Amino acid sequence: MTIQVIPVQGLPLIRKGDDIPALVCDHVAFQDGDILVLASTIYSKAHGYTRNLSEIVPSERAERIARRDHEDPRFVQSVLDEAKDVLLEHPFILSELPFGHIGVRSGVDRSNIEDGQVILLPPDPMGGARELREAIRTRTGKDVGVIITDTCGRAFRRGQTGNAIGWAGFPAIRDYRNDTDLFGHVLLITEEAVVDEIAGFANFVMGESHQGIPAAVFRGCGRWTGHDDMYFRPEEDVIRKAMCAYVSGGPLQSPEPRK
Ligand code: GDP
Ligand code: MN
Ligand code: MN
Repeated sequence: MTIQVIPVQGLPLIRKGDDIPALVCDHVAFQDGDILVLASTIYSKAHGYTRNLSEIVPSERAERIARRDHEDPRFVQSVLDEAKDVLLEHPFILSELPFGHIGVRSGVDRSNIEDGQVILLPPDPMGGARELREAIRTRTGKDVGVIITDTCGRAFRRGQTGNAIGWAGFPAIRDYRNDTDLFGHVLLITEEAVVDEIAGFANFVMGESHQGIPAAVFRGCGRWTGHDDMYFRPEEDVIRKAMCAYVSGGPLQSPEPRK
């Protein structure tokens, strides 16, 4: 099995109203079974999911968090406006978005956009991935899977990696439960987050700064079966529970550091 990973080079700076499938199809000769991985940042720019900081009036809460976290209160307000639930305010906001993703600063970005503007995550990245997949099928007749990614921090380890926030054309998770290992043991627990593995490598190919590569195509990944139940429910999420217990020095305040 050989997997090819092809960076999509030569795309312009994306503006509101740009037709992403048309632009991508101009730069890629798709084959059946390809996976297009797209940075959420250009999906959001094309759909106008951006805000001008100058038009944002921060609330008292945003002012308070901004003072403590040394942030721009208007930026903090844009982060709070995206959040369905705030898990942590300090040393950075960690929040849950309505579509299920939990991310640092609600995934709001100030990079790769003009000064004074922020890029929001798309509100319905699953719908966005489906829509991209259909548009590529209409243009090319090819059966192409799609993953929309964002660069995310993670627990326990330094360094950010790409995560899938929307996908279409395959299940998110390859379910190994009931499969047998080399010694005939039945696997009881293993579920592999395939879309995040692909998103992670795509993120490596795209880079984070001035590379100008907001998409990559994966060829030869094959097929897998499983499910799309990506996000833990709060009652089964042990990290979230532990965090709620940690944030006990008052509502959403972290306790004083231990001496
Ligand atoms: P995120 O991970 O979705 O937040 O996106 P990043 O800001 O990390 O950008 C990922 C890649 O896309 C980098 O190579 C950026 O230089 C590139 N990129 C971001 N915006 C644009 C754009 O409007 N046009 C092009 N061609 N590349 C972009
Ligand atoms: Mn981002
Ligand atoms: Mn990135």
